[in-house]
Amino acid sequence: MGSCVFCEIVAGRTEASVVHEDDGVVAVLDHKPATVGHVLVIPRVHVAGLADADDAVGTAIWRTARRVAGALRASGLRCDGVRLSLADGEAAGQDVFHLHLHVVPRFPGDGVVVTADWKKRSRELLDQDAALIREALT
Ligand SMILES: [Zn+2]
Repeated sequence: MGSCVFCEIVAGRTEASVVHEDDGVVAVLDHKPATVGHVLVIPRVHVAGLADADDAVGTAIWRTARRVAGALRASGLRCDGVRLSLADGEAAGQDVFHLHLHVVPRFPGDGVVVTADWKKRSRELLDQDAALIREALT
């Protein structure tokens, strides 16, 4: 996986500003942060997306994300709230195909924009959607 920039960071072969590391993850500052203090939580194991990540990987990522979120609030960096985001797949905006969770400090006027074409969906259609997902979960 020599071509994977996150594997290079995990291996310590690429410069990164590390905020935490343990057996499961390395957490580093994003070099192009949405806001100051924007952290990436990266599993040590190379997994491209959610389908490849077992529950142990998910647990390691979540545990660190929660700790980092609390640390950001206490750090002195501007952080009135925290947004977690994870892009799974190119269509979702994933740019590095080594799973990672963004932990982004938020505050009023931070310039971060999350847009969508929010539309109300009828209960009938919601129930149909739910049935498809329930079936796929089994
Ligand atoms: Zn990788």
